[in-house]
Amino acid sequence: MNAKADSLATIPVTALRGVGPRRAQQLARLGIDTVQDLLFHLPLRYQDRTRVVPVGSLRAGDQAVIEVTVDHAEVRFGRRRSLLVRVSDGSGALMLRFFHFTAAQKQAFARGVRLRCFGEARNGPAMLELVHPEYTLLRDDAPAPVEEALTPIYPTTEGLHQLSWRDLTGQALALLHEGRALQELLPEAVLREHRLPSLPEAVALLHRPPPDVSTQLLSENGHPAQQRLAFEELLAHQLSLRMLRRRARAHAAPRVIVAGELERRLLDTLPFEPTGAQRRVAEEIAGDLASGRPMLRLVQGDVGSGKTLVAALAAARALEDGWQVALMAPTELLAEQHRQNLAQWFAPLGIEVGWLTGRHKGRRRAAVLEHLAAGELALVVGSHALFQEDVRFARLGLAIVDEQHRFGVHQRLALRNKGDGLVPHQLIMTATPIPRTLAMTAYADLDLSVIDELPPGRQPVKTVVISDERRSEVVARVGENCRQGRQAYWACTLIEESEALQCQAAEDTARELAEALPDLRVGLVHGRLKDADKEGVMQAFKAGELDLLVATTVIEVGVDVPNASLMIIENAERLGLAQLHQLRGRVGRGAAESHCVLMYHPPLGQLARERLGMLRESSDGFAIARKDLALRGPGEVLGTRQTGEVQFRIADLVRDEALIPQVQALADRLLREHPELAAPLIRRWLGEKVHYAAV
Ligand code: ADP
Ligand code: MG
Repeated sequence: MNAKADSLATIPVTALRGVGPRRAQQLARLGIDTVQDLLFHLPLRYQDRTRVVPVGSLRAGDQAVIEVTVDHAEVRFGRRRSLLVRVSDGSGALMLRFFHFTAAQKQAFARGVRLRCFGEARNGPAMLELVHPEYTLLRDDAPAPVEEALTPIYPTTEGLHQLSWRDLTGQALALLHEGRALQELLPEAVLREHRLPSLPEAVALLHRPPPDVSTQLLSENGHPAQQRLAFEELLAHQLSLRMLRRRARAHAAPRVIVAGELERRLLDTLPFEPTGAQRRVAEEIAGDLASGRPMLRLVQGDVGSGKTLVAALAAARALEDGWQVALMAPTELLAEQHRQNLAQWFAPLGIEVGWLTGRHKGRRRAAVLEHLAAGELALVVGSHALFQEDVRFARLGLAIVDEQHRFGVHQRLALRNKGDGLVPHQLIMTATPIPRTLAMTAYADLDLSVIDELPPGRQPVKTVVISDERRSEVVARVGENCRQGRQAYWACTLIEESEALQCQAAEDTARELAEALPDLRVGLVHGRLKDADKEGVMQAFKAGELDLLVATTVIEVGVDVPNASLMIIENAERLGLAQLHQLRGRVGRGAAESHCVLMYHPPLGQLARERLGMLRESSDGFAIARKDLALRGPGEVLGTRQTGEVQFRIADLVRDEALIPQVQALADRLLREHPELAAPLIRRWLGEKVHYAAV
């Protein structure tokens, strides 16, 4: 080993004893190439083998070291042959149970023999048991020493045993204690202010916690050493997004400064007044548009909060200044709905609404593209088709993306590159409320606006949870609702089944409901219908020509039919909170009292019970999102689990919520005072995942 190399980041693992090419390869699979990487490979959990615990104090689930005397050993021939060894230590007795054993082993457990065992206690038929404990025979004269530190258990890969990990990390720690550097990237003043231990201290403690550290605290990742690392990880993440944002902000964008004439005329045609929250967010957007730097703003609003109008007001400003505006939706169904809304609002003002979806092919598509490229079409609505390579704008000033979480970061970026010369402004709207801390972390490259007010007169949707054994009552209720002139949705949800099966189920349900309710006009939409047919059915439902719409989850987001006041969700136990909230959000959009029936197929599991209970109790999208975050984790909530965008090694956004404002403030300060630290921090924690910062 090179004695001069003073940073553990430059010492390869092959410098350690016992690491040959094969072991190095195993470690590389876990992303461990250097001794520093090894030190950042932290234990998953710990065992306390530092003290001997009295048997009498053990409870089921405890892992402990005990020292006992054998009272009795026998082989039982029950359902499974097993060797049972009754042991005791004066404070209590328990049973050791072995399913695999040799005759010699049985012989060794003679009455009076003393043992030290380690294992997890569980309830047995007669008393507590340790199944296949680790054990050693004790000789009276030589009391074997117990461990001096808590025993770390590492996440591992095939062929690498815990003993090897302990050996490797032991060697790495020895180097650390010899004074090899684990580069401290946080300035000392910061550590002092935040009362954080230094990196070497934190790492050393986490690999070999002294016996007085609480395993409970460690298992909750609440120890200051863990907080120290979580803090640094969150900081690295925050910095990478800030860098991305800085880079975007470095570009010039259209400076949209207008009298607001178009906006005023649009508002004049509306049958309602914008809410205070809508006005405030519209003003925030107007400020961005006038800044000369690209807007990157995320507008969050609960279902029904009126995001579309806010988008239209932004569009009006850009249009008034002579820029083109593109609005993108995640599905054709929603794109169609936006087109209608915008046409209804803008046509009277003499502005044509263009239309581009995957369905536009050949000459029609070519014509739209030509108009966009020539700048003859000022406003266009579409689906993913708007992202395609060949779509060019003459002077795109504003891109609006609705229901953003369905689009990934990459698409966000693809769009950014569409404008020639000036970078267009971007407005992103999401219908899935994201808890503020999560939003501030996952979308730290964006500014946030929240429409935190619903239009007046809305009543919360009354929600009931009932078993599908009462399906016929539910059907009768649908009948009553519709006979009073209101409309209803029946959502057929089968997740984890093929789309074909979903559609089949929806078709069957539609047929069954049409038979049971012959006086109702029943429509059906699902993913396998042609787009034109889907739109036809939606149109008919919107126009009140259908009473009941049976649908798969294609109607989950965005669909807006204010006269619909009843939502039935089948198999509600199988859906996540956010999805249920979205589906329920299809009703309660008008002034009439609305209801949602969450129908489940019994028996109801614990988690499903919690989810459905939450929905019954709350209609607050942000509260629901918080619960969802706690139940499922950020990756699921953001819909980015696969891309790993918000996956942390140590930090946990729910548990470490309190750290986030500090981390944000520190990120700002570091970028001002120590910008050179950003790159190494990002590299340390995000490694190869820095597509964020690389753009
Ligand atoms: P979401 O935020 O879920 O996208 P929408 O934009 O679809 O909500 O708006 C929901 C409904 O509320 C629409 O029918 C819309 O016309 C109506 N709406 C929007 N703003 C207001 C307002 N200020 N007052 C009354 N109704 C409004
Ligand atoms: Mg919407």
